[in-house]
Amino acid sequence: MFPSGWLMQIYSIRLASLEPLRCIVVEMTALRNFLASSLILGLTVPLLAQSPAQPKPEETEVWTPVPKVVTPGATDEAPPSDAIVLFDGTNLDEWVSAQDHTPAQWVVADGVMTVKKAPGVGNIETKRSFKNYQLHVEWRVPENITGSSQARGNSGVFLASLGPGDAGYELQVLDSYNNATYVNGMVGSIYKQSIPLANPMRKPGEWEIYDVVWTAPVFNDDGSLKTPAYVTAFLNGVLVDNHFELQGQTLYIGKPFYKKYDRAPIKLQAHGDKSEPISFRNIWVRELP
Ligand code: MG
Repeated sequence: MFPSGWLMQIYSIRLASLEPLRCIVVEMTALRNFLASSLILGLTVPLLAQSPAQPKPEETEVWTPVPKVVTPGATDEAPPSDAIVLFDGTNLDEWVSAQDHTPAQWVVADGVMTVKKAPGVGNIETKRSFKNYQLHVEWRVPENITGSSQARGNSGVFLASLGPGDAGYELQVLDSYNNATYVNGMVGSIYKQSIPLANPMRKPGEWEIYDVVWTAPVFNDDGSLKTPAYVTAFLNGVLVDNHFELQGQTLYIGKPFYKKYDRAPIKLQAHGDKSEPISFRNIWVRELP
């Protein structure tokens, strides 16, 4: 048995021998903490200096205004829920004579309206006036069509009627199925202004479909032009006018010009040629801002 004084002495010697090791551990821990904090600082300080905040996907998300709900038609040709139906095959209640605003006299039968090429009848136009819009029009050149060039199935959709006769902006309607004419007067042209991008005309007897986006011209108070009119048009699903900028009203003779107006009817042309009259059906319009 050892005396207690000896035991204490041995413990003291052992603790004393461990002291250098404890000092080394303490020093290494301090060094590690220093290196770690230096590393963090080394990485974060430059990042903070170069880009204060990382972009977030939410910063480019727009949640309002929420577009209105529009119920599409049963087919893409049928009018959607917010369309104004201008002709549904039953009557001409939405139309008047472009000459004197008396009731339209074109012929309605079997769900279609047909141009009446009788003296004194002429063009018809909508009772309503429009500014910017999307328009759907279907039309058919009769199977027994005769004539050539401009005298073969000629009609027209005036995107803004600016008076009697042919005053306004005409998107040409013509039988351009194997029928040569000046190309800025063929089907799909803005008459004597645009050359259509393609000729997707179906043969006579089949229905043709125009889908049009019309951006009306805007005028300054003094009558000068602020922004021109633009038209985008599809014929039978094929793009024929791509945001085409109009130079003014479409004219048979002379240079186009702009004349101030605000809202205008849509007009259909009874062309004076002798060929068999064409027919229209399923006409609707959606007003745009
Ligand atoms: Mg025409």
